[in-house]
Amino acid sequence: MSDILSQDIQYLKGVGPARAKLLNSELDVYTLKDLLYTFPYKYVDRTIIHRIQDLEEDMPQVQLVGQIVDFERVTKGPHKRIVATFTDGTGYIELVWFKALKYINETIKANVPYLILGKPTVFGRRFSIAHPEIEKYDEENTRQNQFQAFYSTTELLKKRNISSKVISHLISNAFDAVQGKLAETLSPSIINEKGLLSLEKALYDVHYPNSSKSLPLALHRLKFEELFYLQLDILHYAKDRKKEVAGFLFKKVGEQFLTFYNDHLPFELTEAQKRVIKEIRSDMRKGQQMNRLLQGDVGSGKTMVALMSCLLAIDNGFQACIMAPTEILAEQHLATVRELLGNMNVNVELLTGIVKGKERKRILDDLASGKTQILVGTHALIEPKVHFLNLGLAVIDEQHRFGVKQRSKLWEKNIRPPHVLVMTATPIPRTLAMTVYGDLDVSVIDELPPGRKPIQTLHYYSSDVDKMYAGIRTELKRGRQVYIVYPLIEESEKSDLKNLEDGYMQLTEVFSEYNVGKVHGKMKSQEKEAAMSAFLNNEIQILVSTTVIEVGVNVPNASVMVIEEADRFGLAQLHQLRGRVGRGAEQSYCILMTHRRLNENTKRRMDIMVESNDGFVIAEEDMKLRGPGDLEGTAQSGLPFTLKIANIIKDNKLMEEARECATRIMTSDPDENLSDNAIVWKQLKRLKRNKENFSDIS
Ligand code: ADP
Ligand code: MG
Repeated sequence: MSDILSQDIQYLKGVGPARAKLLNSELDVYTLKDLLYTFPYKYVDRTIIHRIQDLEEDMPQVQLVGQIVDFERVTKGPHKRIVATFTDGTGYIELVWFKALKYINETIKANVPYLILGKPTVFGRRFSIAHPEIEKYDEENTRQNQFQAFYSTTELLKKRNISSKVISHLISNAFDAVQGKLAETLSPSIINEKGLLSLEKALYDVHYPNSSKSLPLALHRLKFEELFYLQLDILHYAKDRKKEVAGFLFKKVGEQFLTFYNDHLPFELTEAQKRVIKEIRSDMRKGQQMNRLLQGDVGSGKTMVALMSCLLAIDNGFQACIMAPTEILAEQHLATVRELLGNMNVNVELLTGIVKGKERKRILDDLASGKTQILVGTHALIEPKVHFLNLGLAVIDEQHRFGVKQRSKLWEKNIRPPHVLVMTATPIPRTLAMTVYGDLDVSVIDELPPGRKPIQTLHYYSSDVDKMYAGIRTELKRGRQVYIVYPLIEESEKSDLKNLEDGYMQLTEVFSEYNVGKVHGKMKSQEKEAAMSAFLNNEIQILVSTTVIEVGVNVPNASVMVIEEADRFGLAQLHQLRGRVGRGAEQSYCILMTHRRLNENTKRRMDIMVESNDGFVIAEEDMKLRGPGDLEGTAQSGLPFTLKIANIIKDNKLMEEARECATRIMTSDPDENLSDNAIVWKQLKRLKRNKENFSDIS
């Protein structure tokens, strides 16, 4: 290809075949473009030189100029190291190397002026810097750029003398090679509208920013572009798929739906529920396969939406299934659905891993013959042996436990993929949902059923346990029920279970006139179920459990949720747990128990829980507190390509802007022929092509 950017890296000045091989294997750099898009991981202001006498504890990286006056070499044994005494005339520090000793030995000399960079730590009486960046201090160090970019390297690269500095140098050579030939990748109208730098300027400045002002502008342009194409790619893919994948046509709203709506609804639907059901109906009438994500806070009434969608399927001659992540939940869905349907003539069955033998055979037969109209179950539903006569709709509850792969297994259950409705209460900001779930359309239930009193959340220290007991007792006397949840993580399973057992014992003593039960993941399914259903039937008033109850369980008479060691839970999880209460009309309480010594971050988390009941607010706060934590991990893995410069969490605002811009282009230029967008469509094609090539390799 004539494209200068795709030129092989080995022909670049300063590279050659040997270095090219290293760049390929260590940095994934094959072309000039790859090199130019190898972004720095940090910048250092090289105009600031510190003095050793001014060093303090807890300083970030500092820059010093001086000389080494003495070496101490330990060349053998487990404590091999080189320690150099370094001075700038105002004091002494130690430079320490534990690795690459041979290289240091050969290259670093005494009585030569050096510029060093590193984080000082106090060691004994002196400061020391481990593995400092070190280079000769001479005329070359009076650089034009205030900021120096630093690039990640690997052990092997360091060994072969390809340091961050060398990479910077190679990038500079690459710029010489492409100068004036770098094609712009965004259209003039986008650049104007958003006030962006040109690609060439942005790329240059990101590597060689000459002031603190030019760097953010460069980053902004590159991040925007990355997010813009990410969004355009997703929108484009979703449009293509809609064209390709024909879906079952649910033409009519029929008898079952209407009978239910007119005679069996136990309450008015909320406006949000009505809107979402409309959105689903309109999807199903289009002749395209529906792929919809339904987000709704805990207790917002998603089950009702699921059931009514199933009735639409039945009315059109299809079967439907509802998949839940746990047996307990599946059981409960079955009970809820049967109760809601009352005496209506709809066959609902349950299939989970524990349904065996004759019963299983009967269920599978009824499913294959079409007698069963709604099948509720766990992931046992997607096993290959489960055959539907005519599956038209699959509802997946609590999406975060079902991966995309499992979802796609459903597609094979009929000659065409059934409509899919994915329901989740894990609140993530809307743009993120649209990005991570890619091809899914998103509906939101943003309203709770009326008459709910907001749950009151209290934060108690463990020394306040008597206050907590008193609160519980008041509610028990009113005839209400109580959850007490303990954390359980695998690494500390033994002690966690012991805490739970101790708590259980204590509660049976303190509340001897009530029945106390327990549920945890180590119990057999039957035992768990027995305890759960006893709680459901108010035979047990206090349920001590681990997070097995986290998802979806519905016991409206329960009014208190006590969370022990609440500091060990994430915000999203706390919110989920709290959502188990507040399901009836009475006032409910959530009590967060922690020990007294909390760090600032944890204290803040407890405060947020006390202050807010809104899942979306909590999700935003969670992301702020955690930063790009594990959410980022899961989020990244849902993307069609990895982001090199933008951050899916931190740059959420910019992503919204990019989404808006991409949507505008998709809708205003559906045939992709406006000259103004020519650059954009061409670039999108190029990116898609690269993606395919990439997936061929890996
Ligand atoms: P989630 O969205 O967490 O799955 P559920 O579907 O379990 O919520 O509903 C929570 C509770 O709210 C249930 O007891 C349900 O019967 C009730 N509910 C659902 N919709 C309404 C409504 N429109 N009006 C009153 N109560 C409702
Ligand atoms: Mg639910």
